[in-house]
Amino acid sequence: MFDSVIIGAGVAGCVAARELAEAGRKVLVLEKREHIGGNCYDEPDEHGILIHKYGPHIFHTKERAAYDYLSRFTKWREFGHEVVANVHGKLIPVPFNLNTLHMVYDQDKADELEKKLIDAFGLESRVPILKLREHEDPQIREIADYVYENIFLHYTMKQWGQKPEEIDPAVTGRVPVLISRDNRYFQEPWQGMPLEGYTPMFEAMLDHAAITVQTGADAGERMTFREGRVELDGEAFDGEVIYTGPLDELFGCRFGRLPYRSLRFDFEYFDREDYQGHSVVNYTVSEEFTRITEFKYLTGQKAPGTTIVKEYPFAYTGAEGEIPYYSIANDANQALYERYRALLDEYPRVRPLGRLAEYKYYNIDAMVLRALELTEQIKRDKEV
Ligand code: FAD
Ligand code: UDP
Repeated sequence: MFDSVIIGAGVAGCVAARELAEAGRKVLVLEKREHIGGNCYDEPDEHGILIHKYGPHIFHTKERAAYDYLSRFTKWREFGHEVVANVHGKLIPVPFNLNTLHMVYDQDKADELEKKLIDAFGLESRVPILKLREHEDPQIREIADYVYENIFLHYTMKQWGQKPEEIDPAVTGRVPVLISRDNRYFQEPWQGMPLEGYTPMFEAMLDHAAITVQTGADAGERMTFREGRVELDGEAFDGEVIYTGPLDELFGCRFGRLPYRSLRFDFEYFDREDYQGHSVVNYTVSEEFTRITEFKYLTGQKAPGTTIVKEYPFAYTGAEGEIPYYSIANDANQALYERYRALLDEYPRVRPLGRLAEYKYYNIDAMVLRALELTEQIKRDKEV
């Protein structure tokens, strides 16, 4: 009855389903949560405030193709996302930039340091904190030490349970020191929020006559993957399967669980117009949570009340109800992932896709492009 089964209705699954449906396949989407959209899912809370149930998601890209693709399914609220850090009660722009420099040093010293930074790296450059710390000039190292101690060390300890120098440098590299006066968190040309929210955008994507979506449907209970054979509801299934869940779970975690960081989200509603005056405040030297998001500032919603969320990171254990959010990039974990990946050799028509199945960090835009790439490949394979 179906040509393709897609497991998971996050960005990866929704884009893949749409592409295969448009190529003439009959597609079944199985999603174990009660809703589509994966971690991008948003919904109005009981007070009517549009919240992101799994943490704040801001679309940002330099890839026109990713923006154009999503624009088929949504209009945009375009805005430049800004974040501030609460450092001992003072709010300063993050990423640390030349404006931040002038807020933490007195005028003369800031002028002198600004000149040094521009001479050393050039205006508009982006310098990873770990690189800045290695600089030969002691005054530049002094700035680096300030940024390391007040922006990165404690936040990273909370988020990852490890110091910045102990984690994959690409992670802290996402938030470099900016030798510019740009206070925005992202510098890409397209950034903003789907005008009506993420969930309507994914609903539009899945709204196709050839797509059947089943929520509350755990593939683990509907499908088996044994000795190179795939079964769906007790019958052999020979079509494509795109799997966007954790790869270890597909094989009963037989080599042990892949490690992830998880998050607990604590939402609070306040019966007043404003809570913090900013969309996101990072707590980089204090508190157990990493950041507070006030949704109205992301979505532009006008309402007499406001809802915030605090994020508390912890190590994922696989216990019921926990969600694996961030893969932890290191050699040992990659080796474990590769062992699971090798088990897929027996299943040439089962394709892993997404931040869980590929054990890889993807932003939304990169996820869209990767899903398009994979479905193009599937369509080409079919032709030969
Ligand atoms: P998911 O969204 O995780 O979707 C996978 C889906 O598969 C889930 O719905 C899951 O329930 C389902 N599933 C798993 N196993 C099964 C099963 N056995 N049966 C059926 N269904 C199953 N990106 C940005 O671009 N901008 C941001 O601001 C941003 N902020 C983020 C903030 C946080 C806190 C996090 C964690 C991520 C953020 N991201 C952001 C990244 C973004 O969430 C990912 O790019 C995106 O979610 C990846 O989509 P996906 O489909 O791979 O994964
Ligand atoms: N980071 C930090 N302090 C900040 C912001 C980021 O230490 O104020 C570090 C932290 O290690 C984080 C990484 O930079 O995990 C990447 O930040 P990003 O905002 O991209 O994290 P994510 O979107 O994954 O939550």
